[in-house]
Amino acid sequence: MSQKEMRVVPRPPAEAIVLEPEAGKLALEGTDGPDTYRCGACKTRLMDKVGHMEVFHGEPFDAVKCPKCGKYNALPEDDHHHH
Ligand SMILES: [Zn+2]
Repeated sequence: MSQKEMRVVPRPPAEAIVLEPEAGKLALEGTDGPDTYRCGACKTRLMDKVGHMEVFHGEPFDAVKCPKCGKYNALPEDDHHHH
């Protein structure tokens, strides 16, 4: 299990793919993945029980909008391996 903090980023351009979960919902929920991703600003859980494959090789997205504080979060850079 690991807890990862996402990077707060400026509002993405209109053509970007932004996941906007409803309040209290996760942007992405896996089944038995090892990782939890939290908002870089307010630490709300945005993705839970996800693995590398689901986050980086599943449905593509550019950012996640935190339903609690409204900040846009991108995946942490150090998780980008061998692309
Ligand atoms: Zn937040």
